Amino acid sequence: MTNSAELVLDGLARRYGSTTAVARMDLTVAAGELVALLGPSGCGKTTTLRMVAGFIEPSEGRILLRGKDITTMPAHQRDTGMVFQSYALFPHLSVAENIAFGLKRRGVAKAEIAERVARMVSLLQLQGLEARLPKQLSGGQQQRVAVGRALVINPAVVLLDEPFSNLDALLREGTRIELRRLQTELGLTTLFVTHDQAEAMAISDRIAVMNKGRLEQLGTPREVYERPATRFVASFIGRANILVSRDGRSEDGIPLDAPDGTLVLRPERVTLDDAPAEGPNAVSGTVELLSFLGTGTQAVLRLPGGRQLLAEGPASLADRFRTGGPATARWTRGDLVALPPE
Ligand code: ATP
Repeated sequence: MTNSAELVLDGLARRYGSTTAVARMDLTVAAGELVALLGPSGCGKTTTLRMVAGFIEPSEGRILLRGKDITTMPAHQRDTGMVFQSYALFPHLSVAENIAFGLKRRGVAKAEIAERVARMVSLLQLQGLEARLPKQLSGGQQQRVAVGRALVINPAVVLLDEPFSNLDALLREGTRIELRRLQTELGLTTLFVTHDQAEAMAISDRIAVMNKGRLEQLGTPREVYERPATRFVASFIGRANILVSRDGRSEDGIPLDAPDGTLVLRPERVTLDDAPAEGPNAVSGTVELLSFLGTGTQAVLRLPGGRQLLAEGPASLADRFRTGGPATARWTRGDLVALPPE
């Protein structure tokens, strides 16, 4: 990955009447980088992507692609390849014709089209399916054709709008690994929309976490998980216990050895035992739920003040504790991550 900025969103905003879909977004995507736009439904992910593609006109701000201002350029003239959630394949065209479409429209010579389509077909493991129509393909195969159609034109930036949402969980995981491999191999600059934090964590170089039209944090998967910038990011990425600390106590009376302010305590940092809670950073409660996760066990502890505290540990937690029984949660000062004041 180089550090050159391929795509720059500079104060990009979109309003619909009094609704702000996207509020002054600044984002730079480097060459060969995959950045996920992640956030809950309605946070402005799709609007952002569609402004880059040229389907939605920004109310404010600029879009630069390879240094060129494309803010008002018509969609079909932009050097972008888009994959839609619905795939939007041409139903009456074969797999090969679907992939070839963008090249034909650009007037690429026949022999070169054949060569580039064959390469895509092989990269995406669609061999033998070239003559089929979309309706004769599985969801996963259709998805790969849609990716091939976007990539074959070798766009400056690939735009993916929830491309795996129609796939079942297993296929979804396999396909995203494939996409990541392809994207890395071909060095594709990519903007990827998803509301699935696990998916964003799994395939991104950096994640742009959005909330209510705003970019709340931009960082690597580890940065957004380990050093969340806001309470929203802490709760949206992974699981988080949030404690507000003041003068050595949380708002609901848990004794804390921690600085004042809002603190994030990840469940895997909480250990459980059956000794009484003494001193700070320890609290006893009742086990409300034990869930076996495969990789471990998650416990929900109900505290006397009413709060639920999440803890995650080895599978053996399920043998050591029982639902309805007592448990004491403990952590250290270093397990608490302070959020910057908002
Ligand atoms: P989802 O994951 O549900 O697709 P999203 O994060 O992609 O959500 P957007 O589709 O970008 O969200 O929408 C952002 C906000 O803008 C929402 O509040 C939405 O209702 C509003 N919005 C989007 N398109 C329009 C429109 N054409 N007219 C009015 N409001 C709109």
